[in-house]
Amino acid sequence: MNEYWNIKAELLQRIKINGGWTNCHAHIDRAYTITEKTFALSNQLRSEKWALNDQLRKASTVDQIYSRMARAIERMLEQGVTTMGSFIDVDYKIKDKAIKAAIKVREKYKSELTIKFLNQSSNGLFNEKKEAWQWFKVGAEFVDIIGGLLKADALREAEHLDILLGTAKQMNKMVHVHIDELNISQEHETELLAKKTIEHGLQNKVVGIHGISINARPKKEREKIYRLIKKAGLMFISCPISWLNERRSEELTPTHNPITPVDEMLHHDITVGIGTDNIADIWMPFNDADLWLDLRVLLETARIHDLEALTNIASSNGRKILGIS
Ligand SMILES: [Zn+2]
Repeated sequence: MNEYWNIKAELLQRIKINGGWTNCHAHIDRAYTITEKTFALSNQLRSEKWALNDQLRKASTVDQIYSRMARAIERMLEQGVTTMGSFIDVDYKIKDKAIKAAIKVREKYKSELTIKFLNQSSNGLFNEKKEAWQWFKVGAEFVDIIGGLLKADALREAEHLDILLGTAKQMNKMVHVHIDELNISQEHETELLAKKTIEHGLQNKVVGIHGISINARPKKEREKIYRLIKKAGLMFISCPISWLNERRSEELTPTHNPITPVDEMLHHDITVGIGTDNIADIWMPFNDADLWLDLRVLLETARIHDLEALTNIASSNGRKILGIS
């Protein structure tokens, strides 16, 4: 047989030499929760899936959450992941169950990989009895990095960010926020996050997860957004497969793939890492957390044909995004 350049083997070897894979973003407390019964509902609207997710979170025991997390970490270890970041749900509905499981998981795997936890308040930061705010504080104290979900507080996004960024500043922690994931031109969350980051003086400590809707804006606006991102020192996490399943729309926008605009971001010297996001749950039933598949989808859809850039995206950039020098 003829010799050929095994470019995949070369890239995997480079990632290994560069310290191994970093999975910057996941939700391992609800990994492997898809069942035959819930699979039938996995094509429902997002709002219905959130309600189902709430039921699941309420019913889960600490031991169940622990074994989901452990299985996800074993999956990471078999691929050579050395560092990962995962959101865990901490709010007034689930309370501290995921924290208890996270403490056990971190202890068990401490010699095998570095794991950074982030808090998710899936039901927002505001409710009548202020319990949402109290549980956010409990989560923020525990985690390594403050986590946010702007969609959980629709119409109160600026206030949501003020709480996240104000708390992060007080606790000297980084912040990761889900933004601009719906791939529509009306979303302007990246700009809001950048402006708020500058306002709170948290430059180079804040990370946007997804940022897909940036693609839906005209080039002139996108260039302005990248300059603002640079000014705020925002970094980005692309979860390449995560939003490929977004529904068809009749809106006319510049033609693009539904993925973080990594090609343009690299051009502007913006730090980007990758994450697997939801693993075998109601959001992504078929996702088996294969980092090579994520990197492959990224390199094809954002046309990154640069081995050094891909190596950094898969490893060292992720460590920077998770606050590990
Ligand atoms: Zn996520």
